[in-house]
Amino acid sequence: MSIKYPFLPLRDINRPYNAEIAAALNDILESGWYLHGKYTESLEQSLASLCSTQHAVACSNGLDALRLIIRAYKELGVMADGDEVVVQANTYIASVLAISDNNLRPVLVDTDPATLNMDFSLLEQRISPRTRAVMVVHLYGAPCWSERLVDIARRHNLKIIEDNAQAIGATSAAAGLWGTHMTGGLGDAAAFSFYPTKNIGALGDAGAVTTNDSALADAVKALANYGSDRRYHNIFRGLNCRMDEMQAAALCVKLRHLDEVTARRRANARAYDRAIDNPLVAKPQMLEGNVWHQYEVLVSGGRRDDFRNYLADNGVQTDVHYAVPPHCQPCYPHLADIPLPATERLAGEYVSLPIAEHLCEDDILGISNIINNYR
Ligand SMILES: *Cc1c(COP(=O)(O)O)cnc(C)c1O
Repeated sequence: MSIKYPFLPLRDINRPYNAEIAAALNDILESGWYLHGKYTESLEQSLASLCSTQHAVACSNGLDALRLIIRAYKELGVMADGDEVVVQANTYIASVLAISDNNLRPVLVDTDPATLNMDFSLLEQRISPRTRAVMVVHLYGAPCWSERLVDIARRHNLKIIEDNAQAIGATSAAAGLWGTHMTGGLGDAAAFSFYPTKNIGALGDAGAVTTNDSALADAVKALANYGSDRRYHNIFRGLNCRMDEMQAAALCVKLRHLDEVTARRRANARAYDRAIDNPLVAKPQMLEGNVWHQYEVLVSGGRRDDFRNYLADNGVQTDVHYAVPPHCQPCYPHLADIPLPATERLAGEYVSLPIAEHLCEDDILGISNIINNYR
């Protein structure tokens, strides 16, 4: 059968913005100004204002945003080679790569099957004298945050780094110390990705860092531009991790529609939650503040692939996030120093249903009907 419900048809999703983006791109062509210009500046202001942070620094992609945060902490003397960063085992590999690329040790925490995010009850036992930070990943758009996290971080003097790649626009009621409720403004520093498939996606790679820490923001900014704080003056052995004006311009256009995108995804998630009724398919928690980057259902008993094939046969395109966790990847043969049973079990059960803004509630009901007829 042909695909009736595509998973993420980016061309259709971006079409409403094409005219506005084309006008901005033409403006850039006419200006001849391609980097560190008015669009990048405007995007940084919009992001800082969205997250109520003092600073936002645009950069090349989400992995670089995470790498830059940790590298900046090293340059500032907060972290050093061999230090540890505690991170959830259930994440995209970029979270872990950013730590190991900086010669720090990723220390994994198993997954809470209720939230599919870090199991905070297992966090404190993973902290050692070398731990400098906790990286929380707001995976699938669900804010990974709690008073308990804030309390543990404060008692152990740890930075909290948010991997906000999947959760732009999400909020948490358990804001803790810092008073703001938007992800990206909860912790000490946050990384954003604007990879094309994210809730707000560029026309290629792009990312950003948000923080209230002025020294960190300055260091990230310099590191992303060869380590220079002003022209031909290099205070760090830096990198080239800049965002170009073309991506910033596209993102400025799309970011203005964040509320609509989020509202559509939330309405779709609520519709799934009401309509899916099949004992073989476990639905995700309806956590307040989730922006539903993915809607993950769990199909156990080794039937995940059978379920996906059934959906495909009925015109529903699905995906899996993620079938192989970082510690099971060949590049990390010794990453797990403890058993991670929940992470490994769940990796065999995830199915991502279509949830993005190309679908309306009738579509969700149609997909749910098909799901409810699965035996
Ligand atoms: C996409 C993603 C990243 C990496 O972002 P890129 O822009 O692709 O480098 C990091 N962490 C998570 C959780 C992601 O989903």
